[in-house]
Amino acid sequence: MTSTPCRAQSTVVGLRPPTLQTIPESIAKNMAIVQARSDSRIMAVVKADGYGHGALTVARAAIAAGAQWLGTTDFDEAVNLREAGLSVPILAWLNPAGFDAGAASAGGIDLAVGSVEELQTLLEQPSGAAVRIHLHVDTGMSREGVPRSEWDAIILRALEGQRRGKIFVVGLMGHLPLADRADPRANEEAVALMHEAKAKITAAGFDDPITHLAATAGALTDPATHFGMIRLGAGLVGIDPSGTTDLSGASRLTAPIVHNATVMPGTPVGYGGTYTTDRTTRLSTLPVGYADGIPREISPDASVEIHGCRYPVVGRVSMDQIVINTGATYYPRGTTATVFGPKDGVTPTIQEWASWAGTIPHTIVTNIGSRVKRTIA
Ligand SMILES: *Cc1c(COP(=O)(O)O)cnc(C)c1O
Repeated sequence: MTSTPCRAQSTVVGLRPPTLQTIPESIAKNMAIVQARSDSRIMAVVKADGYGHGALTVARAAIAAGAQWLGTTDFDEAVNLREAGLSVPILAWLNPAGFDAGAASAGGIDLAVGSVEELQTLLEQPSGAAVRIHLHVDTGMSREGVPRSEWDAIILRALEGQRRGKIFVVGLMGHLPLADRADPRANEEAVALMHEAKAKITAAGFDDPITHLAATAGALTDPATHFGMIRLGAGLVGIDPSGTTDLSGASRLTAPIVHNATVMPGTPVGYGGTYTTDRTTRLSTLPVGYADGIPREISPDASVEIHGCRYPVVGRVSMDQIVINTGATYYPRGTTATVFGPKDGVTPTIQEWASWAGTIPHTIVTNIGSRVKRTIA
């Protein structure tokens, strides 16, 4: 870690509430890195509120940078994007039982269909116009896709449904289980299955559907997985599951110091007194805790940035608060601490928080609580 000297001068910024700021410029930079590695179309995946960064904010930034499609898991997430005025094609891939086909055709939302039963349900419903579907084939996840043994069956039904004007097959979808290994050999089986599925549906007489298999890791490491489109989620917000690129963090979590104390050596801090000061030191309290997404299980390395310097989080993480040890330095109430932000040599990144918490950066950004204020840089 580069050590920048702490700036001793501190500025009181007023008691701004804990804030998660989304940084569209980082999203644009990340899009450019992916575009340099792939000519395929890009679907911006903005499920789980854009990985916690605001679905609309991430969608708009990605579209401005060249994304041509949007993807969500949930149908309602897709409808929200459409109702906000976004006009690009939107795919939702995990649709509840008893799902309303009419809502999909009326909202212009594409649906992924991952089983014969799902397709049957869709075909039995009144839908108005044909529902645009993507056949989701299992390429090794055993999660949402149609198992290979049922490909012929679903293709037959889809053909019949398309002839009747109930559905229109616009896409063929798979998903890579092992792309984060950053080794194309790990994807070979899935790629072969995808080619096989594509050949089958073309032979059945469907127009050439848009084929998509890769997410961020495949997009960054294995061109054989790109096909007609890549689905980019984590990469948009600065997470590279393959660990091969330096993407830009697209959010910054800040909180103001709300309480200060100078304590003697041997002073226990927080519930359980799990940490005890070893010298006279200054402690400051930040109004964010595990209810706001600060992981409760963290290593002693966990720290925050203030004025170009890192200070450790000490004692247990409370529901609403953490305590930091600023040593000999005094920062007045209202001084802003950065919990995480884009990499700058000092500010902790979401990747660091993930390693301190023994998790992946995805869980850090998707767990930020609802009382944290959201802004856009
Ligand atoms: C979440 C998800 C993606 C995006 O994956 P990233 O690794 O976040 O880019 C793509 N496809 C499916 C089916 C997903 O569930």
